[in-house]
Amino acid sequence: MKKPQSHSVPPRLVTLARTAKNTHRLSREELTELLSSPCAEELLAAAADDVRHAYVGDGVHLRGIIEFSNICRQNCMYCGLRRDNGKIERYRLTPEEILDLAKKAVGYGYKTVVMQSGEDAYFTMERLVPIVRAVKELGLAVTLSLGERSREEYRALKEAGADRYLLRLETTDSELYEAFDPGMSHERRKACLRDLKSLGYEVGTGTLVGLPGQSVESLAEDILFFQSIDADMIGIGPFIPNGDTPLADAAGGDFHLTRRMVSLLRLLLPEANIPATTAMETLERGAREIMLTSGCNVVMPNVTEGDARRNYALYPGKVCVADTPAHCRSCMEGRIASMGRYVATDAGFRRRGKAEEKHGNFS
Ligand code: SAH
Ligand code: SF4
Repeated sequence: MKKPQSHSVPPRLVTLARTAKNTHRLSREELTELLSSPCAEELLAAAADDVRHAYVGDGVHLRGIIEFSNICRQNCMYCGLRRDNGKIERYRLTPEEILDLAKKAVGYGYKTVVMQSGEDAYFTMERLVPIVRAVKELGLAVTLSLGERSREEYRALKEAGADRYLLRLETTDSELYEAFDPGMSHERRKACLRDLKSLGYEVGTGTLVGLPGQSVESLAEDILFFQSIDADMIGIGPFIPNGDTPLADAAGGDFHLTRRMVSLLRLLLPEANIPATTAMETLERGAREIMLTSGCNVVMPNVTEGDARRNYALYPGKVCVADTPAHCRSCMEGRIASMGRYVATDAGFRRRGKAEEKHGNFS
């Protein structure tokens, strides 16, 4: 990958990066300017890496993902799991299969599993609660990523032992959101995040970078929004066009813009957990290492096995689909060690206390 040069960064941008590093605050206009400046990429990454080191340390948290169903009642225009996509083979793992993968995750040394799926109505609370309880009993921190549910359902899952929930806002641009997520409401998405936060979940959210028509100003707005809700985790991934969706011919997200976005998030939310996403690695091999030195402190290796691993096709070209979970584990450990970092041995709950002042309040 060609690295942008940082020697010609205008002094104003150098000052802005320094301000961000020291105060963790930038205005919408300042964020927009930095996001729009390719020459600021290395500068932002270096500042974000320093802030990452100071606030969350050198440990890299590995979260094993179990993709337990690719059946979805929603029809998001960008996603291969959308209900109108007749080209993928649908699957749903049994409770025994899910538990078996969770046990294997324990065996690989993972302290957290992320249970992710499409919005699959089959998984009622009667079915899900015992699964969450059983996974929790293995001593794992449990993260769920099942899409939109009612407050009562989120509460039941929390009581069953779920600790965290990932629900990307995708974009703060409500018109764009509702155009690409037909039938879904931006207000409802935000209400879900608010419910999750008030129920005591650690809340993960994030952005899909590069949706057609998405402005850089809206990305700046996303950063400020995540800061205002005091997000615990933020996953930022480039949009990767999927040939089986209506956005098959769209341009897709830019690696460098996504990287600047991630670095700015670390600068403005110094304590957050920020993953080096699989979608970034899919765009550029070696991206995980680049992102781990640009502000990220989390990697989410896939624990799903066999055909399910191949059929959980949000986007094409997803890395490592042919590998076994055991291979992923040892590969990641080696890659992390070669960077002079280490695999963290705790469950990786969000750290608090180092930020000089807490930002905002969402509840
Ligand atoms: N159904 C749940 C969880 C699974 S989808 C939900 O929607 O929250 C998880 C994430 O995959 C989405 O939030 C979206 O940001 C991402 N995703 C979907 N299609 C994608 C694509 N084509 N390129 C990159 N990321 C995509
Ligand atoms: Fe379903 Fe999530 Fe894909 Fe939307 S992004 S179609 S909710 S799996």
